[in-house]
Amino acid sequence: MASVRLLADDVGPRRPTSPAEARAADLMRGRLDSIGLDAGIEHFDGYPTFAAPFGAILGAAVAAGLLPRRRTALRSLLSAAAAAGLLTEGGLIRTPLSDALSRRPSQNVVATIEPAGPVRRTACLMCHLDTSRSGLLFDPRFVRYLNPWLTGQSLACLVQGGEPLLARSGWGRRAAGTARLVLAAGLALLLERELRGEDVPGANDNASGVAVVAELALELAASPPEHTRVVALMTGCEESGLLGAQAFLRSRDTNGWLFLNFDNVGGPATLRYTLKEGLAIKWECDPGLTRIAARLSRERPELGLAASPGPIGLTYDVTPVLARGGRGITFVAGDDGVIPNYHWPTDTSDNVDPANLSRALRAGHAMVRAIDRGDAD
Ligand SMILES: [Zn+2]
Repeated sequence: MASVRLLADDVGPRRPTSPAEARAADLMRGRLDSIGLDAGIEHFDGYPTFAAPFGAILGAAVAAGLLPRRRTALRSLLSAAAAAGLLTEGGLIRTPLSDALSRRPSQNVVATIEPAGPVRRTACLMCHLDTSRSGLLFDPRFVRYLNPWLTGQSLACLVQGGEPLLARSGWGRRAAGTARLVLAAGLALLLERELRGEDVPGANDNASGVAVVAELALELAASPPEHTRVVALMTGCEESGLLGAQAFLRSRDTNGWLFLNFDNVGGPATLRYTLKEGLAIKWECDPGLTRIAARLSRERPELGLAASPGPIGLTYDVTPVLARGGRGITFVAGDDGVIPNYHWPTDTSDNVDPANLSRALRAGHAMVRAIDRGDAD
């Protein structure tokens, strides 16, 4: 709870690429340093909001529909560019649009704990330091429809990408027009969030995950695993597009690493592990890790751990790991696919449940010990 209060109350909202995000990174690096871990800061360039890439994608699609019908080539070009932008951004591997928009400094905090014996594997504990912003998209009254809404947006964007074909028939033009109406509504919601939303304190999302990773690192530094090298990774720019996680994955060979991500683990709800991640495109979480989590949920009922049967929240820092065919799992507290106080000004430290936070910490500890025994090998 000290880490949660430090980030949510003292630093406050930590918008991606902001000085507050950098301050949070510095404070957490200092905390890891103080327990004798040689924590470093790795810089990368990012942007402050997911409205940047998605505004460009939706804007291109809507603009195509506003052009006169005789501008066939330009309409087709804009439509295809929007669909291609969505596919590459959603694919989370090569993201030329995000790369072009990444102009502002952000950072990851990275610390390594060496095992007592020879290294047989690497486990990476992940969490993000930055925070999100409220807006109608995240209004508690509508938030349960967020996932289907974004999936619908993706489909609409792909449909209008078939402009050259659709433009040939009346029904095709109507389909493209309907798709673009959906995308125009999406664009309006992005704009509403930028203009009327407010940056949230991010106690649950994700000072809770940072607290768990910091505490786990402290415990593991004091009593290192036998054969597992542990890397603690606290990312920046998760909320604007998983940019810190992607910068980390591009910076080194993480083939075979096991990623355990902690995101929104302090809310008053059931602590869950993901089975699949992603929005329109979904990737399976690692079977070795989900097997250990399932066993913990059976054998350690006091952890209150359960699988997330369907989608929960949006994407996570582990999603780009899975997109690359890597091994990972996310821990997140939520019920019926909804995370309490998600991207809302009520995401304060008073609304973090210390008992749940402690359960997440114990679950993380048990996961690392099981990994170290070779249970996921
Ligand atoms: Zn988060």
